[in-house]
Amino acid sequence: MKQQQNPTTASNEANEANEAADSVRFWGVRGSIPSPGPHTAQVGGNTSCVEVNLAGERVIIDGGSGLRQLGTAHGALPLDAHLLFSHLHWDHIQGVPFCGPLYNPRSRVRMLGPADLHAALAKQMSGPTFPVSLEVMGARLSFEPIRPGATLRIGAITVRTAPLSHPGGAIGYRLEHAGRAVVYASDTEHPEHGLDAALLELAANADVLIYDAQYTPEEYPQRVGWGHSTWLKGCELAEAARARALVLFHHDPTRDDDAVAAIEATARARFAGARAAREGLVLTLDTRGEAKGSAGAAMTRGDAARDGVHL
Ligand SMILES: [Zn+2]
Ligand SMILES: [Zn+2]
Repeated sequence: MKQQQNPTTASNEANEANEAADSVRFWGVRGSIPSPGPHTAQVGGNTSCVEVNLAGERVIIDGGSGLRQLGTAHGALPLDAHLLFSHLHWDHIQGVPFCGPLYNPRSRVRMLGPADLHAALAKQMSGPTFPVSLEVMGARLSFEPIRPGATLRIGAITVRTAPLSHPGGAIGYRLEHAGRAVVYASDTEHPEHGLDAALLELAANADVLIYDAQYTPEEYPQRVGWGHSTWLKGCELAEAARARALVLFHHDPTRDDDAVAAIEATARARFAGARAAREGLVLTLDTRGEAKGSAGAAMTRGDAARDGVHL
């Protein structure tokens, strides 16, 4: 694991990494509802959307409002991607109607997720709350249901899944190729005692564990049963799973930049590989073999808005 030497190089390399190298890019890191404004500008206000480039495949996880940003950055180019949905709550699908490349007839997007994925996206794009239908999208779209617990393939990537603890259910994903693994576990609530065994197994030795840290441990007792977890449970899970890096994700919409930074600092004191998700953050998956077990110790924050980090 090595830290970029200078910000300019980091930014350029991060852009190139988006096209070629194995990487994780955060387009939307917020939970529940977009929360733009001056007090959230550093962390970002868009809801859940993460892009994983692995083994030459572009995999997008969740279609929150961050997906609009991804689409805008992609421009007029056709998009060839796999779009995995954890579940169908608004903050995970609301960016779909605003993703420009989905209207490009040359785009080809394979959508995978809960069985009622197509129905939910079609309903979202219907009257009286939306002007045009899903059929207006010109891209070649396919829809495939995933049963939580199933294993599937995306090109050379092995995708393992696990059921998460969330009202209505949610799917956790582990994307693995050539010994590198990225795990996405949002939205999920930790058990009353101990850790979620299925999630612990899913996250085992992950290079990157993206985890639902919507609440603080102090807030959580007032939100039991709402389907979200805390930074502390994230640290415990990452430690037990021997994950290299923990990315605190799905920030509460009430959390401003200072509050996220404070949580990040507290979490890092507990687990050295912890960091807060921010829009524009890019984690590049480096070659394996070095720094295993010293997860994130070499990582520093850098530019909060445009951050390139080698793992
Ligand atoms: Zn959510
Ligand atoms: Zn949810």
